[in-house]
Amino acid sequence: MRMRIDVVTIFPEFFGVLDVSLLGKARQAELVETHVHDLRDYAAFKADGSPDVHRTVDDAPFGGGAGMVMKPEPLAEAIRTAKKSAPSSRTVLMTPQGRRFSQPMAHELAGEEGIIFVCGRYEGVDERVFSRYIDDEISVGDYVLTGGELPAMIVMDAVTRLLPGVLGGEDSAEKDSFSAGLLEHAHYTRPREFEGEAVPEVLLSGNHQAIARWRTETSLIRTFLKRPDLLARRHFAPDEVDILRSWCADIERIIETQPVSGAGPLPGRE
Ligand code: SAM
Repeated sequence: MRMRIDVVTIFPEFFGVLDVSLLGKARQAELVETHVHDLRDYAAFKADGSPDVHRTVDDAPFGGGAGMVMKPEPLAEAIRTAKKSAPSSRTVLMTPQGRRFSQPMAHELAGEEGIIFVCGRYEGVDERVFSRYIDDEISVGDYVLTGGELPAMIVMDAVTRLLPGVLGGEDSAEKDSFSAGLLEHAHYTRPREFEGEAVPEVLLSGNHQAIARWRTETSLIRTFLKRPDLLARRHFAPDEVDILRSWCADIERIIETQPVSGAGPLPGRE
């Protein structure tokens, strides 16, 4: 089934990105449909019903202080309009205060029929929009950007590439970093030698079992060096345990066979 993505923003021009790369292809192939709502189109009238020539979407905060706040009425109207066409879509507010985005969350969102991304600006949105209109709050990291457009695009990209039929290779998303709880293995392409460095022999061997083991091993090595936190909470597969044990054995062998320099013996070798 085709996923529907709605975006509510004051900068629809940001979303020209939807025409290019994988997102553009997914749209052309009708695997995903996108609707970008200009929030100012929902700010044509003031609260008293008179026309608002400025199409105002922000106002000063009650209680004073710096910055502006996104008014609730245009946001509510834009979300209601999107919901009318997509009643089962999940409404997601992009905010640094939300759940930190991750690959498991991308998989979770890829299972939705539709997503309505609400892009904040200024100091954020009026609090009363949350309880009535927002199902989920997502952050792309512990830093503050000027608006929710780039975060929405990040999530959109990560989710779209997981939709069935979007990626070329059948299993390329499953092997991506984080999808399997590890960083992905190393990749090589032609030429066989680049600036004096050759492609590992095993990849040219045609031995699929050996290649699979090499990939698991480089995946484990990278994760151990770059993201040991991922290994600390992993349930290892038997072949991974084999590889880790063989490293331990290799390291033990190196320690045992090398002379010890310095003052005292190594612990365990007294
Ligand atoms: N005053 C807000 C706070 O401290 O939580 C930050 C507002 S920020 C300047 C404006 C908008 O950018 C937010 O409403 C949100 O939509 C978006 N934004 C900024 N950083 C983000 C992040 N890390 N993840 C997701 N959205 C973010």
